[in-house]
Amino acid sequence: KTFDTLNISHKTKQALTALNYIEPTQVQESVISEMIAGHDLLVKSQTGSGKTAAFAIPIVESIAWEERRPQVLVLAPTRELASQISEEIFNIGRFKRIKVETLIGHASFQAQARNLKERTHVVVATPGRLLDHIEQGTIQLGLVKLMVLDEVDEMLSMGFMDQVDAIFDALSSRPQVALFSATLPQEVKDIADFYVKNPTVVEV
Ligand code: AMP
Repeated sequence: KTFDTLNISHKTKQALTALNYIEPTQVQESVISEMIAGHDLLVKSQTGSGKTAAFAIPIVESIAWEERRPQVLVLAPTRELASQISEEIFNIGRFKRIKVETLIGHASFQAQARNLKERTHVVVATPGRLLDHIEQGTIQLGLVKLMVLDEVDEMLSMGFMDQVDAIFDALSSRPQVALFSATLPQEVKDIADFYVKNPTVVEV
């Protein structure tokens, strides 16, 4: 199988070729078309499986370029992971000129707030810093239609789920939701029951 069999735009395929992504990985094969079709997902996958591109490709494909306000939120447990995710979305979205903003702690809040006034298609964040922006009124969430939670098991063990709940509550309407986790213990399944509706379940 190649990326040609999946429903991906020419510009995004060009970006994948530039990255030397020739064939989709197993998780990409299972996730991409389901996510593009608008389904909620619960995905069990490890780092190294290509999980980041599995959600980055549908994210890039979902963007209406003309809109100036964020359309997609990606939450990650650590600053490092958030930065890696942003880089992957930037690389895959480069020919579509997708604008990604990374909202993480230990970086200038003011600079982030300024960037959010410019066109921002995708926000990748750690929960605490995103909540700060919500509380300060420096981010507008009215157009968010897709939310990805990466490494949910880590977010749970680091005690971030109350913050994630607060972010979810700040959205004006329920978005499409995709949950990714390396493990699926009962606690993660309980979280999934709250966030996703009739999800497509993928375990690779
Ligand atoms: P991840 O599981 O998202 O951390 O990705 C693991 C590694 O696989 C990263 O270095 C990616 O750049 C790479 N990768 C992701 N998708 C593909 C693909 N379809 N073909 C080749 N490499 C890939």
